[in-house]
Amino acid sequence: MSFLIINSKVLPGYIPPEKEELLSSWIFRLSQSHKIKPFSFTKFYFKETAFWNRDVDKFIYGTVIEQLTKITPLSKNDILNLHLISYKDIVFNTPLVASYTRGITNLGIYHRKRKNNGLLACPKCLRKKYYYKKSWRLLTSLICTECKCHLIDHCPNCKAPIIFQRLDIGDKSNHRNIPIYLCWLCNFDLRIEFEVVAENSLIYDYQKYINECITNGFCIHTQYSFLYIQVLLNILGKSKTNSSKWIRIRNAFISEFNLIDEEFFCKSLDTSIQFRRKIIPLIYFLLNDIPERFVPFCKKYSLRYSDFAKDNERLPFWFYKSFREYY
Ligand SMILES: [Zn+2]
Ligand SMILES: [Zn+2]
Repeated sequence: MSFLIINSKVLPGYIPPEKEELLSSWIFRLSQSHKIKPFSFTKFYFKETAFWNRDVDKFIYGTVIEQLTKITPLSKNDILNLHLISYKDIVFNTPLVASYTRGITNLGIYHRKRKNNGLLACPKCLRKKYYYKKSWRLLTSLICTECKCHLIDHCPNCKAPIIFQRLDIGDKSNHRNIPIYLCWLCNFDLRIEFEVVAENSLIYDYQKYINECITNGFCIHTQYSFLYIQVLLNILGKSKTNSSKWIRIRNAFISEFNLIDEEFFCKSLDTSIQFRRKIIPLIYFLLNDIPERFVPFCKKYSLRYSDFAKDNERLPFWFYKSFREYY
């Protein structure tokens, strides 16, 4: 039996979103609580047949949000808080665009397929409650500080990206209520394998710092969290290149930290979580003490301000000032 009732004000199978839940995860769980396939659910309630074909956490029609305010007890603000737009002026301060927004992972959607590992997950959080968190779409999310383990960005068994909404595809008529923590492709339980992180590790320190930065909206470097994240991700981006000219930042990281990774030599804007795990905590480490760590690093490898500011990127004043002051 399913619960397709349109006259009732609130959805008959309404369930509230969980703490910091991602909008698409909640809508998927709503379809499950109504015992309807996600595709049919969004078609019926939102009159949308292509709903799951795009990155709905990045882009959603106003009419869908409006409809959600009608069929759930939530306000527009409550719903927007589940959406990645809620990170505007915290993680990024540009418009949230489907193609590329700084700080937000890219799903690389092509029709209903995805080529990127854009959705992350904590295997241990998925054991506690069955839903996906909004912060699992942030490039700055590397580990779960609560569970003290690495986040994953693909199925450890078949390597497919995590795409929970594909779980109920296939068999058109029967709704199967497949648990959200299974791999959509091979049905492997994503909660089984996890890698522990020590509390006194650099990556743990980094994640605590960035989580606080995002919660507070500022950090010790600057009064706006997105201006710190901009520099962090700028350096991450500059650390990988296939250019033969702008190689100083990449070579500095490889030499200074004795790193080997093919991804250093690839030009795509996207990064794997394995690569981010290696580099981002090191950037955090260097920036944490600009006169004693970052500037000596730059001097040692002859890195100039122009190495960071190439591609006409306007870097935040706090970063520019540090360069002028100590270099
Ligand atoms: Zn966790
Ligand atoms: Zn799998």
